[in-house]
Amino acid sequence: SSSKGPGPGGVNVQVLLRCRPLSEEERRISTPVVITCNEQRREVSVAQNIANKQIDRTFVFDKVFGPKSQQQDVFNHAVVPLVNEVLDGYNCTIFAYGQTGTGKTYTMEGGGGSKAQNGDLPSDAGVIPRAVKRIFDILEEQSAEYSMKVSFLELYNEELTDLLAPEESKFSDDKSKKPMALMEDGKGGVFVRGLEEELVSSAAEIYRILDRGSAKRKTAETLLNKQSSRSHSIFSITIHIKECTPEGEEMIKCGKLNLVDLAGSENISRSGARDGRAREAGEINKSLLTLGRVINTLVEHSGHIPYRDSKLTRLLRDSLGGKTKTCIIATIAPSVHCLEETLSTLDYAHRAK
Ligand code: ADP
Ligand code: MG
Repeated sequence: SSSKGPGPGGVNVQVLLRCRPLSEEERRISTPVVITCNEQRREVSVAQNIANKQIDRTFVFDKVFGPKSQQQDVFNHAVVPLVNEVLDGYNCTIFAYGQTGTGKTYTMEGGGGSKAQNGDLPSDAGVIPRAVKRIFDILEEQSAEYSMKVSFLELYNEELTDLLAPEESKFSDDKSKKPMALMEDGKGGVFVRGLEEELVSSAAEIYRILDRGSAKRKTAETLLNKQSSRSHSIFSITIHIKECTPEGEEMIKCGKLNLVDLAGSENISRSGARDGRAREAGEINKSLLTLGRVINTLVEHSGHIPYRDSKLTRLLRDSLGGKTKTCIIATIAPSVHCLEETLSTLDYAHRAK
Protein backbone atom coordinates (compact mmCIF):
# COMPACT_ATOMS: atom_id res chain seq x y z
CA SER A 1 0.00 0.00 0.00
CA SER A 2 1.10 3.56 -0.57
CA SER A 3 1.45 4.19 3.16
CA LYS A 4 4.14 1.52 3.54
CA GLY A 5 7.60 2.83 2.74
CA PRO A 6 8.42 6.21 1.27
CA GLY A 7 5.97 7.70 -1.18
CA PRO A 8 6.84 8.72 -4.73
CA GLY A 9 8.94 11.67 -3.56
CA GLY A 10 10.71 9.53 -0.99
CA VAL A 11 8.77 11.27 1.74
CA ASN A 12 6.28 9.77 4.10
CA VAL A 13 3.63 12.46 4.05
CA GLN A 14 0.11 11.38 3.21
CA VAL A 15 -2.54 14.00 2.61
CA LEU A 16 -6.15 12.90 3.00
CA LEU A 17 -9.17 15.04 2.38
CA ARG A 18 -12.44 14.68 4.27
CA CYS A 19 -15.62 16.56 3.46
CA ARG A 20 -18.29 16.58 6.16
CA PRO A 21 -21.99 16.25 5.32
CA LEU A 22 -24.30 19.25 5.47
CA SER A 23 -25.60 19.73 9.00
CA GLU A 24 -29.30 19.30 9.71
CA GLU A 25 -29.71 23.06 9.84
CA GLU A 26 -27.85 23.55 6.55
CA ARG A 27 -30.11 20.95 4.94
CA ARG A 28 -33.21 22.55 6.41
CA ILE A 29 -32.43 25.90 4.77
CA SER A 30 -31.33 24.18 1.54
CA THR A 31 -27.76 25.43 1.63
CA PRO A 32 -26.21 25.10 -1.83
CA VAL A 33 -23.38 22.57 -2.10
CA VAL A 34 -20.28 23.45 -4.13
CA ILE A 35 -18.13 20.36 -3.45
CA THR A 36 -18.12 17.03 -5.25
CA CYS A 37 -16.00 14.17 -3.94
CA ASN A 38 -14.92 11.38 -6.25
CA GLU A 39 -13.48 8.75 -3.93
CA GLN A 40 -12.47 6.36 -6.74
CA ARG A 41 -10.44 9.03 -8.52
CA ARG A 42 -9.28 10.54 -5.21
CA GLU A 43 -10.52 13.92 -6.44
CA VAL A 44 -12.34 16.87 -4.93
CA SER A 45 -14.00 19.35 -7.26
CA VAL A 46 -15.20 22.84 -6.50
CA ALA A 47 -17.74 24.36 -8.83
CA GLN A 48 -19.55 27.63 -8.39
CA ASN A 49 -20.69 30.57 -10.46
CA ILE A 50 -20.14 33.86 -8.66
CA ALA A 51 -21.16 37.07 -10.40
CA ASN A 52 -20.85 35.34 -13.77
CA LYS A 53 -17.37 34.14 -12.96
CA GLN A 54 -17.18 30.38 -13.05
CA ILE A 55 -14.93 28.72 -10.47
CA ASP A 56 -14.05 25.19 -11.51
CA ARG A 57 -11.18 23.47 -9.83
CA THR A 58 -10.20 19.87 -9.12
CA PHE A 59 -7.67 18.68 -6.56
CA VAL A 60 -6.19 15.19 -6.21
CA PHE A 61 -5.19 13.72 -2.82
CA ASP A 62 -3.76 10.44 -1.54
CA LYS A 63 -7.26 9.60 -0.38
CA VAL A 64 -10.63 11.35 -0.42
CA PHE A 65 -13.38 10.74 2.13
CA GLY A 66 -16.76 12.03 1.00
CA PRO A 67 -19.64 13.20 3.21
CA LYS A 68 -20.85 9.63 3.74
CA SER A 69 -17.52 8.31 4.97
CA GLN A 70 -17.48 6.68 8.39
CA GLN A 71 -15.06 7.16 11.27
CA GLN A 72 -14.02 3.53 10.80
CA ASP A 73 -13.02 4.18 7.15
CA VAL A 74 -10.87 7.15 8.06
CA PHE A 75 -9.24 5.17 10.84
CA ASN A 76 -8.52 2.16 8.63
CA HIS A 77 -6.82 4.19 5.92
CA ALA A 78 -5.18 6.97 7.84
CA VAL A 79 -4.24 5.45 11.14
CA VAL A 80 -3.84 1.68 11.04
CA PRO A 81 -0.59 1.80 9.00
CA LEU A 82 0.84 4.46 11.32
CA VAL A 83 -0.03 2.50 14.45
CA ASN A 84 1.95 -0.41 12.99
CA GLU A 85 4.91 1.90 12.40
CA VAL A 86 4.75 3.20 15.96
CA LEU A 87 4.76 -0.35 17.32
CA ASP A 88 7.82 -0.99 15.13
CA GLY A 89 9.61 1.84 16.90
CA TYR A 90 9.01 4.86 14.71
CA ASN A 91 7.52 8.28 15.43
CA CYS A 92 4.38 9.28 13.55
CA THR A 93 2.08 12.27 13.52
CA ILE A 94 -1.51 12.74 12.42
CA PHE A 95 -2.78 16.29 11.90
CA ALA A 96 -6.32 17.51 11.42
CA TYR A 97 -6.22 20.74 9.41
CA GLY A 98 -9.14 22.90 8.33
CA GLN A 99 -11.55 25.73 8.93
CA THR A 100 -13.42 25.77 12.25
CA GLY A 101 -16.62 23.73 12.02
CA THR A 102 -15.44 21.34 9.31
CA GLY A 103 -14.86 18.31 11.55
CA LYS A 104 -11.29 18.35 12.90
CA THR A 105 -12.35 17.48 16.44
CA TYR A 106 -15.03 15.10 15.16
CA THR A 107 -12.35 13.29 13.17
CA MET A 108 -9.76 13.23 15.95
CA GLU A 109 -11.86 12.72 19.07
CA GLY A 110 -15.30 11.76 17.80
CA GLY A 111 -18.89 12.88 17.96
CA GLY A 112 -19.26 13.32 21.68
CA GLY A 113 -20.21 9.80 22.67
CA SER A 114 -16.74 8.38 22.22
CA LYS A 115 -16.62 6.60 25.55
CA ALA A 116 -16.04 2.87 25.40
CA GLN A 117 -18.82 0.57 26.55
CA ASN A 118 -17.62 -2.90 27.55
CA GLY A 119 -14.50 -2.44 25.46
CA ASP A 120 -16.39 -1.50 22.30
CA LEU A 121 -16.14 1.98 20.87
CA PRO A 122 -19.23 3.76 19.53
CA SER A 123 -19.38 4.15 15.75
CA ASP A 124 -18.72 7.90 15.98
CA ALA A 125 -15.51 7.45 17.99
CA GLY A 126 -12.65 9.32 16.34
CA VAL A 127 -9.05 8.61 15.50
CA ILE A 128 -7.61 9.02 19.03
CA PRO A 129 -9.76 6.50 20.94
CA ARG A 130 -9.54 4.07 18.00
CA ALA A 131 -5.75 4.35 17.85
CA VAL A 132 -5.52 3.79 21.60
CA LYS A 133 -7.74 0.72 21.43
CA ARG A 134 -5.82 -0.75 18.52
CA ILE A 135 -2.46 -0.23 20.22
CA PHE A 136 -3.59 -2.05 23.36
CA ASP A 137 -5.29 -4.83 21.35
CA ILE A 138 -2.08 -5.51 19.41
CA LEU A 139 0.17 -5.37 22.48
CA GLU A 140 -2.10 -7.77 24.34
CA GLU A 141 -2.31 -10.12 21.40
CA GLN A 142 1.49 -10.20 21.22
CA SER A 143 1.72 -10.56 25.01
CA ALA A 144 4.34 -7.84 24.70
CA GLU A 145 6.22 -6.43 27.64
CA TYR A 146 5.80 -2.70 27.34
CA SER A 147 5.39 0.61 29.06
CA MET A 148 3.27 3.42 27.76
CA LYS A 149 2.93 7.07 28.69
CA VAL A 150 0.76 9.85 27.39
CA SER A 151 0.87 13.63 27.43
CA PHE A 152 -1.71 16.20 26.38
CA LEU A 153 -0.63 19.73 25.52
CA GLU A 154 -2.37 22.83 24.31
CA LEU A 155 -0.59 25.46 22.25
CA TYR A 156 -2.37 28.79 22.35
CA ASN A 157 -0.84 32.02 21.13
CA GLU A 158 2.59 30.27 21.02
CA GLU A 159 2.24 29.37 24.71
CA LEU A 160 2.16 25.80 25.96
CA THR A 161 -0.27 24.53 28.60
CA ASP A 162 -0.21 21.07 30.12
CA LEU A 163 -3.75 19.70 29.96
CA LEU A 164 -2.85 16.89 32.36
CA ALA A 165 -1.20 19.00 35.07
CA PRO A 166 -2.91 18.76 38.47
CA GLU A 167 -5.35 21.62 39.11
CA GLU A 168 -3.66 24.68 40.54
CA SER A 169 -5.00 26.19 43.70
CA LYS A 170 -7.06 29.33 43.26
CA PHE A 171 -4.69 31.05 45.65
CA SER A 172 -1.46 30.12 43.97
CA ASP A 173 0.67 33.02 42.87
CA ASP A 174 1.10 34.10 39.31
CA LYS A 175 4.39 32.27 38.96
CA SER A 176 2.62 28.92 38.79
CA LYS A 177 0.69 30.08 35.75
CA LYS A 178 3.82 30.80 33.79
CA PRO A 179 3.63 29.20 30.39
CA MET A 180 5.73 26.07 30.06
CA ALA A 181 9.15 26.36 28.51
CA LEU A 182 10.28 24.37 25.52
CA MET A 183 13.91 23.39 26.18
CA GLU A 184 16.68 22.04 23.96
CA ASP A 185 18.07 18.76 25.26
CA GLY A 186 21.50 19.34 23.70
CA LYS A 187 21.13 16.32 21.42
CA GLY A 188 19.04 18.04 18.79
CA GLY A 189 15.79 17.25 20.56
CA VAL A 190 13.44 19.31 22.67
CA PHE A 191 11.42 18.69 25.78
CA VAL A 192 8.78 20.62 27.69
CA ARG A 193 9.98 21.48 31.19
CA GLY A 194 7.70 20.05 33.86
CA LEU A 195 5.40 18.27 31.41
CA GLU A 196 3.18 15.68 33.04
CA GLU A 197 3.63 12.31 31.37
CA GLU A 198 1.26 9.69 32.73
CA LEU A 199 2.03 6.02 32.72
CA VAL A 200 -0.96 4.07 31.45
CA SER A 201 -1.73 0.39 31.30
CA SER A 202 -5.18 0.18 29.76
CA ALA A 203 -7.28 1.85 27.09
CA ALA A 204 -9.91 2.80 29.69
CA GLU A 205 -7.25 4.74 31.57
CA ILE A 206 -6.38 6.74 28.45
CA TYR A 207 -10.04 7.52 27.74
CA ARG A 208 -10.31 8.96 31.26
CA ILE A 209 -7.16 11.02 30.74
CA LEU A 210 -8.48 12.29 27.41
CA ASP A 211 -11.73 13.35 29.06
CA ARG A 212 -9.86 15.07 31.87
CA GLY A 213 -7.66 16.97 29.40
CA SER A 214 -10.61 18.03 27.26
CA ALA A 215 -12.52 19.21 30.32
CA LYS A 216 -9.53 21.25 31.46
CA ARG A 217 -9.26 22.75 28.00
CA LYS A 218 -12.90 23.84 28.12
CA THR A 219 -12.58 25.30 31.63
CA ALA A 220 -9.51 27.28 30.68
CA GLU A 221 -11.31 28.55 27.62
CA THR A 222 -14.15 29.94 29.68
CA LEU A 223 -11.96 31.37 32.44
CA LEU A 224 -9.43 33.01 30.19
CA ASN A 225 -11.85 33.88 27.45
CA LYS A 226 -9.90 31.76 25.02
CA GLN A 227 -11.34 30.44 21.82
CA SER A 228 -10.75 26.78 21.19
CA SER A 229 -10.65 27.46 17.47
CA ARG A 230 -7.39 29.33 18.05
CA SER A 231 -5.54 26.63 19.91
CA HIS A 232 -3.72 23.50 18.81
CA SER A 233 -4.02 20.38 20.93
CA ILE A 234 -1.34 17.71 20.87
CA PHE A 235 -2.01 14.29 22.35
CA SER A 236 1.09 12.06 22.39
CA ILE A 237 1.46 8.37 23.16
CA THR A 238 4.98 7.03 23.77
CA ILE A 239 5.51 3.27 23.86
CA HIS A 240 8.56 1.26 24.90
CA ILE A 241 8.41 -2.39 23.93
CA LYS A 242 10.82 -5.02 25.18
CA GLU A 243 11.90 -7.48 22.52
CA CYS A 244 14.21 -10.42 22.30
CA THR A 245 16.38 -10.90 19.23
CA PRO A 246 16.67 -14.45 17.84
CA GLU A 247 20.06 -14.53 19.61
CA GLY A 248 18.25 -13.96 22.89
CA GLU A 249 19.42 -10.40 23.35
CA GLU A 250 17.08 -7.91 24.93
CA MET A 251 16.16 -4.83 22.98
CA ILE A 252 13.88 -1.87 23.65
CA LYS A 253 11.91 -0.36 20.79
CA CYS A 254 10.52 3.10 21.32
CA GLY A 255 7.79 4.64 19.16
CA LYS A 256 5.63 7.71 19.49
CA LEU A 257 2.29 8.72 18.04
CA ASN A 258 1.26 12.38 18.00
CA LEU A 259 -2.37 13.25 17.36
CA VAL A 260 -2.79 16.93 16.61
CA ASP A 261 -6.04 18.88 16.37
CA LEU A 262 -4.81 22.10 14.76
CA ALA A 263 -6.19 25.60 15.25
CA GLY A 264 -8.83 26.71 12.76
CA SER A 265 -7.17 27.49 9.45
CA GLU A 266 -9.37 30.55 8.90
CA ASN A 267 -6.84 32.48 11.00
CA ILE A 268 -4.19 31.79 8.44
CA SER A 269 -5.55 34.33 6.00
CA ARG A 270 -5.76 37.15 8.50
CA SER A 271 -2.44 38.86 8.31
CA GLY A 272 -1.10 42.33 8.67
CA ALA A 273 -3.64 43.40 11.27
CA ARG A 274 -2.53 45.56 14.15
CA ASP A 275 -4.77 45.05 17.17
CA GLY A 276 -4.16 42.51 19.94
CA ARG A 277 -6.75 40.07 18.77
CA ALA A 278 -5.30 39.94 15.32
CA ARG A 279 -1.80 39.66 16.66
CA GLU A 280 -3.07 36.63 18.50
CA ALA A 281 -4.34 35.28 15.24
CA GLY A 282 -0.94 36.13 13.78
CA GLU A 283 0.72 33.90 16.35
CA ILE A 284 -1.45 31.03 15.26
CA ASN A 285 -0.47 31.87 11.73
CA LYS A 286 3.08 31.32 12.83
CA SER A 287 2.63 27.68 13.86
CA LEU A 288 0.26 26.84 11.01
CA LEU A 289 2.34 28.64 8.41
CA THR A 290 5.57 27.14 9.68
CA LEU A 291 4.02 23.68 9.69
CA GLY A 292 3.06 24.23 6.05
CA ARG A 293 6.59 25.34 5.18
CA VAL A 294 8.20 22.46 7.04
CA ILE A 295 6.03 19.93 5.27
CA ASN A 296 6.62 21.61 1.93
CA THR A 297 10.36 21.53 2.43
CA LEU A 298 10.23 17.88 3.43
CA VAL A 299 8.14 16.94 0.43
CA GLU A 300 10.26 18.93 -2.03
CA HIS A 301 13.62 18.05 -0.46
CA SER A 302 14.40 21.72 -0.84
CA GLY A 303 17.06 22.22 1.79
CA HIS A 304 16.83 23.91 5.16
CA ILE A 305 13.80 22.79 7.15
CA PRO A 306 12.51 25.70 9.28
CA TYR A 307 11.57 23.64 12.36
CA ARG A 308 12.82 26.37 14.67
CA ASP A 309 10.39 29.01 13.42
CA SER A 310 7.43 27.93 15.58
CA LYS A 311 6.69 26.09 18.81
CA LEU A 312 4.57 23.49 17.08
CA THR A 313 7.30 22.46 14.66
CA ARG A 314 9.98 22.56 17.38
CA LEU A 315 7.81 20.34 19.53
CA LEU A 316 7.15 17.84 16.76
CA ARG A 317 10.61 17.94 15.25
CA ASP A 318 11.47 14.34 16.13
CA SER A 319 8.22 13.22 14.51
CA LEU A 320 8.40 15.13 11.22
CA GLY A 321 10.79 14.10 8.47
CA GLY A 322 13.48 11.44 8.44
CA LYS A 323 12.10 7.97 9.03
CA THR A 324 8.84 9.23 10.47
CA LYS A 325 5.44 9.09 8.83
CA THR A 326 3.03 11.99 8.73
CA CYS A 327 -0.62 12.03 7.83
CA ILE A 328 -2.56 15.23 7.28
CA ILE A 329 -6.32 14.97 7.31
CA ALA A 330 -7.63 18.16 5.72
CA THR A 331 -11.28 18.82 6.53
CA ILE A 332 -13.76 20.89 4.53
CA ALA A 333 -17.49 21.66 4.49
CA PRO A 334 -19.57 21.30 1.31
CA SER A 335 -21.50 24.57 1.74
CA VAL A 336 -21.28 27.53 -0.62
CA HIS A 337 -20.76 29.75 2.42
CA CYS A 338 -17.43 28.10 3.14
CA LEU A 339 -16.20 28.33 -0.44
CA GLU A 340 -13.36 30.77 0.12
CA GLU A 341 -11.94 28.94 3.14
CA THR A 342 -12.42 25.61 1.41
CA LEU A 343 -10.30 26.75 -1.53
CA SER A 344 -7.60 27.94 0.84
CA THR A 345 -7.64 24.58 2.70
CA LEU A 346 -7.47 22.65 -0.56
CA ASP A 347 -4.51 24.78 -1.68
CA TYR A 348 -2.66 24.35 1.61
CA ALA A 349 -3.26 20.61 1.73
CA HIS A 350 -2.43 20.19 -1.92
CA ARG A 351 0.89 21.98 -1.50
CA ALA A 352 1.75 19.56 1.30
CA LYS A 353 1.58 16.68 -1.16
P1 ADP B 1 -13.87 21.66 14.10
O1 ADP B 1 -13.19 20.89 15.20
O2 ADP B 1 -13.12 21.58 12.79
O3 ADP B 1 -14.16 23.08 14.47
P2 ADP B 1 -16.10 19.94 14.69
O4 ADP B 1 -15.39 18.64 14.73
O5 ADP B 1 -16.43 20.57 15.99
O6 ADP B 1 -15.28 20.98 13.80
O7 ADP B 1 -17.38 19.73 13.78
C1 ADP B 1 -18.42 20.70 13.67
C2 ADP B 1 -19.77 20.01 13.72
O8 ADP B 1 -19.96 19.16 12.59
C3 ADP B 1 -19.94 19.11 14.93
O9 ADP B 1 -21.27 19.20 15.36
C4 ADP B 1 -19.63 17.73 14.39
O10 ADP B 1 -20.27 16.72 15.15
C5 ADP B 1 -20.17 17.81 12.98
N1 ADP B 1 -19.39 16.96 12.05
C6 ADP B 1 -18.14 17.21 11.61
N2 ADP B 1 -17.72 16.28 10.75
C7 ADP B 1 -18.72 15.39 10.65
C8 ADP B 1 -18.90 14.17 9.89
N3 ADP B 1 -17.93 13.70 9.08
N4 ADP B 1 -20.07 13.52 10.03
C9 ADP B 1 -21.04 13.99 10.83
N5 ADP B 1 -20.93 15.13 11.55
C10 ADP B 1 -19.80 15.82 11.48
MG1 MG C 1 -12.52 21.58 17.08
